[in-house]
Amino acid sequence: MEIGSKRKSPRALTQISGAISDAKAEYKCKRKELATALKAEIKSEFQEQLIAENPRLVKILTRQWETQKCNQSRLTEMYDTAEELAPKVAKLIEMIRDAEHPIVYTGAGISTSANIPDYRGTGGVYSSLASGQDIKQCNLVTATPTLGHMALSGLLKSGIFKFLLSQNCDGLHLRSGVSPEQLSEIHGNMFMENCDEGHFFYRTFDVTEKTNVKRHKTGRMCPNEDCDEELYDAIVHFGEMNRFDVPYRWETAETHAAQTDLIVCIGTSLKVLKAYKVLWPKKCKLVIINLQWTPKDKKADLLIRGQSDQILCEVAKAFDIPISPYSESEDPLISLATALNENDPKPSTPFLNMVENNAKFPVESNNFKTNFKEHYTPGWYGKGMKKN
Ligand SMILES: [Zn+2]
Repeated sequence: MEIGSKRKSPRALTQISGAISDAKAEYKCKRKELATALKAEIKSEFQEQLIAENPRLVKILTRQWETQKCNQSRLTEMYDTAEELAPKVAKLIEMIRDAEHPIVYTGAGISTSANIPDYRGTGGVYSSLASGQDIKQCNLVTATPTLGHMALSGLLKSGIFKFLLSQNCDGLHLRSGVSPEQLSEIHGNMFMENCDEGHFFYRTFDVTEKTNVKRHKTGRMCPNEDCDEELYDAIVHFGEMNRFDVPYRWETAETHAAQTDLIVCIGTSLKVLKAYKVLWPKKCKLVIINLQWTPKDKKADLLIRGQSDQILCEVAKAFDIPISPYSESEDPLISLATALNENDPKPSTPFLNMVENNAKFPVESNNFKTNFKEHYTPGWYGKGMKKN
């Protein structure tokens, strides 16, 4: 048999593709008419008939609308009233007191009061992209830890909370004084550069200015003697795996998650975190402090719709933890950071304020004034954290 004898002629193919596009157009038209008919308060005879004749399509459309409505309502920010909030915070304090190994998971919601937009909240990155708006410009280098960050830091230092896992790359937990050993930054830290030999360096500027999804080289070389490897940022973008131990500290995080009897989630939609099975041990109480719906709301023992700053301050007060406001001169990055060498490529992005006139950072200090920009959106935030 001749190969290809069953193939359709070009003419037949054109006819078939024409018929398919006609059918598609017809379906689209019917769907539109049906949608109008279903929404019409007073229906014409034609519309009634259309609905009666297309039960399957009616079912599909109705289901789609319900899903849309549900997704929309899940984005709504909800607030407990003062009367609702007080007993909930009291309950939270009691749960922390009763727990042996309480740990905390945070997301972008804890940084919104530091003027860093979150992702799915009102004015957040995804919400803005979904409505066709540009991402709100922000200057993460001028952002400083909030009272909520400081209260949480105090609660960790005093051992009330045992460990903190954060999805935030803004470095504010570290800058609020949380010890690196108690902190797992699972999506990276914008102030950290790493080499493949396991060396890592904190910096006083955003190291992600030139990096992007799958492009993590910062352009500098490892300053460790005999290493000379290239340096990379530590940001984990969508679909990427982490390539270093620090700042993710997954092993430590897993050890704490395995021991925990109370997880307090603050300002996270949990849409990403829920996928890490290791973080959700079965016999463990769960508190969620978030303004929007999360996929774990039904499993929560306590659900608080309130501002995390206020709640964390109240918790710290209950445990007699003093909350000192953030002070630039005491920012841990000053002692943690490695100064740039004279020959290192300098960032074109601003340095943190604290390097000005600081003898430890002579190169940075020299460049401080000329590099400062009032509005600046860092690499990891402006580019890489977009879903596409
Ligand atoms: Zn190295």
